[in-house]
Amino acid sequence: AAKVLPYGVQLFHPALESRAVRRLGIAADLRTALDTGALDVYFQPKVTLTDRHLVGVECLARWQHPAQGEVLPEDFIAVAEHTGQLSRLTEVVLTEGLRRCREWADQERPLSIAVNLSVRTLLDSRFPDQVAGLLEHYGVAAAQVTFEISEPGMLGDIERVLPTLYRLRDLGVRLSVDDFGTGASSLSYLRQWPVHEVKIDDSFVQGMATDTGDLAIVRAVISLAREFGLTVVAEGVESELTLDLLEEMGCEIGQGYLFSRPLPYERLEAWFNAQTEP
Ligand code: C2E
Ligand code: CA
Ligand code: CA
Ligand code: CA
Repeated sequence: AAKVLPYGVQLFHPALESRAVRRLGIAADLRTALDTGALDVYFQPKVTLTDRHLVGVECLARWQHPAQGEVLPEDFIAVAEHTGQLSRLTEVVLTEGLRRCREWADQERPLSIAVNLSVRTLLDSRFPDQVAGLLEHYGVAAAQVTFEISEPGMLGDIERVLPTLYRLRDLGVRLSVDDFGTGASSLSYLRQWPVHEVKIDDSFVQGMATDTGDLAIVRAVISLAREFGLTVVAEGVESELTLDLLEEMGCEIGQGYLFSRPLPYERLEAWFNAQTEP
């Protein structure tokens, strides 16, 4: 959020400074928000590209600060990481996702949920047991839950993260490499990591309609992932053209503003009802 001056001159320093100061200022407020249930969880549909059928939702944290307005996830997640509140934040999002997942199962709408994990969470050896306990408590089948882990983070710490990934996989939850393509890992890693899904980063998806380089990357990832038996999800699908290209290349699932923005629960239900009305 650097301030842009005329002629492209940017003042990085003041913006960065105020961001750091703001982080410190909101640490206590974040704790309160987590304790009082003031942190919101939004849901963004994941749909099949062929017929736009809803298969699941990504659960995304949202925070409306009482004085400062909406705080970006990248900011409050960094605050949570630096102030030891990340496991609480993850628990809040996961719990809300599981609660809804259970409700949908009861209504015979078996939707899966996806929850983002930071690498720091995967370094916590107690996490898989917590997940097992929550699955049991909410009566949700492990296969209905996907954890998304960003590729760049995963790459940096893969040796330390692998034991947790194996334990999660053994519970039966699904694992997804998020933001794939941004971490500059070789495609061959896809075969070595214990994952079920690849999420192609929105930067490539958004570029693929106009940039042949992006198009080539998307095509290569889809073809290799399918070769390895992995589910391929494209994030950031914004146009019909992109949708058509992805479908042609054999990508199965998409997520993006073309289908829906992340929505609060009530609006997700309204979106779903509008889709399924005859
Ligand atoms: P992400 O995992 O890549 O999440 C998808 C982000 O892309 C979301 O941003 C979503 O709003 C946005 N998006 C979805 N479709 C489109 C589209 O068609 N066009 C564009 N331009 N953007 C689209 P959001 O919600 O701001 O989240 C940003 C990041 O914050 C997420 O990136 C995720 O890594 C992180 N995050 C959000 N909630 C949590 C959480 O509960 N825990 C952790 N650890 N991270 C979270
Ligand atoms: Ca994600
Ligand atoms: Ca992503
Ligand atoms: Ca992304």
